[in-house]
Amino acid sequence: MRQCPAERIRRACHVTCFGHPRGVPSPRRLPPVSALALLAAFAAVAPAAEPPRLAVVIVIDQFRGDYLARFGPHFGEGGFRRLLANGVNFTNCHYRHAITLTAPGHATVLTGTTPDAHGVTANDWVDRGTWETRNCVEDPASPLVGISPAELGPVAAAAPAKTGRSPRPLLAATVSDELKRLRGPKSRVFAVSNKDRSAILLGGQQAEGAYWDENGRFVTSRHYRADLPGWVRAFNAEGRVAARFGATWDRLLDRSVYDRVQGPDDEAGEADTAGLGRTFPRKITGGLAKPGPAFFTAFDNSPFSAEVLADFAMRAVTEEKLGRGEATDLLGVGFSQVDTAGHNYGPDSHEIMDSVLRLDRTLARLLDHIEREVGLARCVVVVTADHGIMPLPERVQRTQPGVPAGRVKPAEMDALAVKALEARFGAVPKGEAWFTRDNAGIHLRPASLAARGATAAEAAKVVREAWAALPYIAAVHTREELLATRRDADGILGALRRSYRPEGDRDVVYAFKRNFVAKSGAGVSHGSPHDYETHVPLLFSGAGVPRGERSEPVSVEDLAPTLSALLGVPAPANATGRRLF
Ligand SMILES: [Zn+2]
Repeated sequence: MRQCPAERIRRACHVTCFGHPRGVPSPRRLPPVSALALLAAFAAVAPAAEPPRLAVVIVIDQFRGDYLARFGPHFGEGGFRRLLANGVNFTNCHYRHAITLTAPGHATVLTGTTPDAHGVTANDWVDRGTWETRNCVEDPASPLVGISPAELGPVAAAAPAKTGRSPRPLLAATVSDELKRLRGPKSRVFAVSNKDRSAILLGGQQAEGAYWDENGRFVTSRHYRADLPGWVRAFNAEGRVAARFGATWDRLLDRSVYDRVQGPDDEAGEADTAGLGRTFPRKITGGLAKPGPAFFTAFDNSPFSAEVLADFAMRAVTEEKLGRGEATDLLGVGFSQVDTAGHNYGPDSHEIMDSVLRLDRTLARLLDHIEREVGLARCVVVVTADHGIMPLPERVQRTQPGVPAGRVKPAEMDALAVKALEARFGAVPKGEAWFTRDNAGIHLRPASLAARGATAAEAAKVVREAWAALPYIAAVHTREELLATRRDADGILGALRRSYRPEGDRDVVYAFKRNFVAKSGAGVSHGSPHDYETHVPLLFSGAGVPRGERSEPVSVEDLAPTLSALLGVPAPANATGRRLF
């Protein structure tokens, strides 16, 4: 990891880039006209006398906590820098849960609590009633609106009931739910994202609308409406995604800038996803002659998808007249593309740097639009992320010889577990399995346990002992151990406990050591309790927000109580965080 250079940049940047004029002179010493102008200027930065008109909560998927400092010198004026100059930047903000994935992160942002309380422990989980995998926002009672299961592809067409989406699995109230509870229909809540789970979990239970993109168009579900509003249909009909077919994604700035900050463009372990190759420039076609499913995948992996999402968010602000009603409105925006670049090329790549620099310019357009439509001085803008990302193990091996790093095959872990279980209890009947695995542990199958006369607790201990000996395992715990652990416990065990739902969760849970990933071949992933994945930005900007940079340890759980205070509503009932200012 390039932590050290990034840290150097951060310190320099605090003074040169993110600084802002302090020490406003006393109006009494100035002539009356200037005093008025100064008072007007001061009003824009002083604590708001009345609640903000609009809260904009921006969650950038996989935006690591060191990116603002690392890439800050290359930002434009109107994006992140504008927010930093008009707000407070918490540089030491972490998630406190272990399974750092998109859905748990987004659910924590506006509920102010951890997955054990809000219920969204992963992007999907094993349903112990049916033994099927269940998506985190799956709801058969809320079919999609704006696209049919058949149009989503063969997998969706074969199981249409699994394509319905709603926030039903989210068990805790959000800041937006508190707004709606207090202000009723006068406060309006919308959330937009490239991913369904990001939009839905930011919207909470009572959003007027949540929209995300599927195959180049924005859709919603019956939970929100029976049909797409006219403005969404009009936006989709403009064909902004198809218009970028064949567009070239090249670096925004000169190659030497990226070489200096990130190192070489191509690195062992980078993935060639959706025909995009491993080096710049690349053409966004998905290898097709005209727009089709492979093109939509390539498009989602390009920064152009963030541009179209911003266009859509701007349209939502205008068409839904956000920030122009009687009470505070809330808009959640979940930018997903940075996550794809991190997965494909890692955090030290040219591609991630370019994705962030382009997102900065995209953010500037969105902020310009909000300035025109509402006035940023009357808005609160919050920026955070759902999780970070680990470095490519090959990068660690190349740049830090001797530091352990590598790729883990879950199948090998499973074989070891089965061998240990068989040695202790005997083989399970033909056609049965000892367990069903997911991304962080296993569920023991009750029928197999019963057939071998084993209890879940005994079998879990056997698996724990087998896995604890593996060189890449940092922690492995049984259900019994997790349930005996306090929610506020320290270390990886505490973080795993905060990712654990007592009802229906796994029998054995594990975490890898630093720099190990369960991804074979190429690319990288996240989902661990290590700092490169828990550290995210937390930035408040606008009405009622103090100015400056703060380095004390804070948590994403603190976002919701702090935002609630700014909006003049009670913190969500389950919030475990604290108000930061
Ligand atoms: Zn991801």
